[in-house]
Amino acid sequence: PVPTDPAARRTYELDRAHVFHSWSAQAALDPLVITRAEGCYVWDGHGRRLLDLSSQLVNTNIGHQHPKVVAAIKAQADVLCTVAPQHANDQRGEAARLIAERTPGELDRIFFTNGGAEAVEYAVRMARLHTGRYKVLSQYRSYHGGTSTAINLTGDPRRWPNDYGSAGTVHFFGPFLYRTAFHASTEEEERDRALEHLEQLIAFEGPGTIAAIVLETIPGTAGIMVPPPGYLAGVREICDRHGIVLVADETMAGFGRTGRWFAVEHEGVVPDLLTFAKGVTSGYVPLGGVAISPHVAATFAERPFPGGLTYSGHPLACATAVATITAMAEEGIVENAARVGEDVLGPGLRALAERHPVIGEVRGRGVFWALELVTDRATKEPLAPYGGTSPAMKELTAALLDAGVLSFSNFHRLHVVPPCTISPAEVEEGLAALDEALSIADKHTTA
Ligand code: PLP
Repeated sequence: PVPTDPAARRTYELDRAHVFHSWSAQAALDPLVITRAEGCYVWDGHGRRLLDLSSQLVNTNIGHQHPKVVAAIKAQADVLCTVAPQHANDQRGEAARLIAERTPGELDRIFFTNGGAEAVEYAVRMARLHTGRYKVLSQYRSYHGGTSTAINLTGDPRRWPNDYGSAGTVHFFGPFLYRTAFHASTEEEERDRALEHLEQLIAFEGPGTIAAIVLETIPGTAGIMVPPPGYLAGVREICDRHGIVLVADETMAGFGRTGRWFAVEHEGVVPDLLTFAKGVTSGYVPLGGVAISPHVAATFAERPFPGGLTYSGHPLACATAVATITAMAEEGIVENAARVGEDVLGPGLRALAERHPVIGEVRGRGVFWALELVTDRATKEPLAPYGGTSPAMKELTAALLDAGVLSFSNFHRLHVVPPCTISPAEVEEGLAALDEALSIADKHTTA
């Protein structure tokens, strides 16, 4: 609805008149005006304070308006707002060092981009030139970005209208026991059969044609499916055996979200390339990048890397990354995400599942959780069709808004993805709102 406050109303009207929105039919949009934000809260154009359980697009990992990061952005603006990528810059070097120190193994060289899609584009370009091969494999349940290679790697229906069949991408099923593609009944079976499926797909595509396997360490937008222990190690082993570059896309799972700096750490797996964005600056200034292993970097030691961006390593963005990572380390923000997930958020969501028949499954770790919503627990019929929404899902997100919560939903799923800084009391506030709203969704079940 249009806000009544004059300033918020003007914001709404200007948006409707002139702003062209992502992933949407433009005619029927009804954007929520956001006027300010602090910590885990945002304020909307109606003057309501909302608990941000979405972290916007799962990127404000340190919460909104962290004073030290805001101060660092202002300080950098006073010194140097921009510089071309060919020059050396203190903030860029420092950001690269702080990231390289945290990425696993010897991923210690950083190519900076403006966001996650570009990071994936460049990781694929590096892998193709490094191997001299063209094809790239990715999972059906995945999102890798909106640009042309990244959207073709993406598994979800946003690929369909963008797919011209020329990107050299081939999709496979990752492990997901709740909706198993392999008729598995245990996590171990699901893992082994998913690896066998990948192995067969590679054999039939031709191992010598495949440059890279790109996967989200924990698929995010597609449903936060934590892979069974050993799956990623299995993919690593397959890549090693066939000379395929493993690209871990940590755009969403990285920088604290899962209770570790990077989600690959849970499995002790080191990819050849690791893509990041979002949490690296908490989204305060756009930044993404690729962390590169020495053997891939060596390919471009004498041969020029054929790629670049005017804003690669932009000093305002890099200063933001330095301040964000420093604040995360000094304030134990990654540890907080792990602790809150284990002690409060995970148990709280599981308790909700005991009370609400609409919850088919609860899964996640850290501050990265999904509720799989179903009309019938026995048949697992989703509360909205694949690729779409439903009156029940719309009712649920509206009820959450009424209960003071900004939520993130995808098809039939509700994702609970607050900032990594969320306190136990704020989690309890969110759980109470979820409890209330899910009671409404329960009415759509056959239970
Ligand atoms: N990769 C993953 C795993 C993502 O979740 C996203 C965004 O949600 C992207 C890539 C694309 O990032 P960006 O929107 O910054 O281009």
